[in-house]
Amino acid sequence: MEKLKTRIQQLKRKRSGYGKMLNFYQKVKEAQQSIKPSKKKPIKLKMEWKELLAKEGFSLIQKEDFPLDIETSTKLFTTLCEIGKDSNPHMAEQVKKIKEAIDNKRLDFKKLLIEGMKEEKIKKVADESALDEVVLSFLIQSSMKPSIEAGRDQLKSELDSETWLKGFCPVCGSLPHLSVLKGEAGKRYLLCSYCGYQWRADRLFCPFCSNQEQGSLNYLYGEGEENYRIDLCDRCHQYIKTIDHRTLEELDPVLEDLATLHLDILASQKGYKRPVPNPWAA
Ligand SMILES: [Zn+2]
Ligand SMILES: [Zn+2]
Repeated sequence: MEKLKTRIQQLKRKRSGYGKMLNFYQKVKEAQQSIKPSKKKPIKLKMEWKELLAKEGFSLIQKEDFPLDIETSTKLFTTLCEIGKDSNPHMAEQVKKIKEAIDNKRLDFKKLLIEGMKEEKIKKVADESALDEVVLSFLIQSSMKPSIEAGRDQLKSELDSETWLKGFCPVCGSLPHLSVLKGEAGKRYLLCSYCGYQWRADRLFCPFCSNQEQGSLNYLYGEGEENYRIDLCDRCHQYIKTIDHRTLEELDPVLEDLATLHLDILASQKGYKRPVPNPWAA
């Protein structure tokens, strides 16, 4: 956490426009790290099922299979709502509305957390209580994060991150939200947007449409920002941001992503879409 704080300070000095967002990020991270899921509920995998899935190229589990520690997630949700109240007016208003909905029993909190595993369920809940789906989803997912990461760590040993090479997460099947380059050779890894698992991918590869043609895969850089790259695909017109850890210490890719939202604006101006936007941008 100390290293992370130092990096946040550095980024704030470099990009003053991101100050508020970075302060919010730090507070949420502190809250998440202070809470650890109490008991480890084992995830049971049936051996024959596991082998079949691997052979067919499916993920080990699905989002809703992660064991959720409801108690710690509930605590974290309350803390995050408090932090959200001071972050920006829109978030403050949403937090107020969520609390009202819970108090009036329009929202069943535990059910909400369990349903948080499925985007379409969150959308339904948000529509029913006239809430901003993006904010609600952000608060729920951030509250579940410690549980999800604990589940991911349990399953890590079942997989070989170097040989999967597909465009979706081998643990939970979700799409990647970032990619990183590591080591002297600059091996490329994709990062799961849901559980954070990292797996190897080819340098020339669009995770969203599996395109590997050199001619239709291009890059975009920000001025003087050689540590960050936007990987554009001209076949599906989507992109993924790549953080180069050959020259930048590997600390927190999500933070680096958040501090380079201007590159996303650049890509979107050129007509490319980001399948999994940074949830902090909302
Ligand atoms: Zn995953
Ligand atoms: Zn593509």
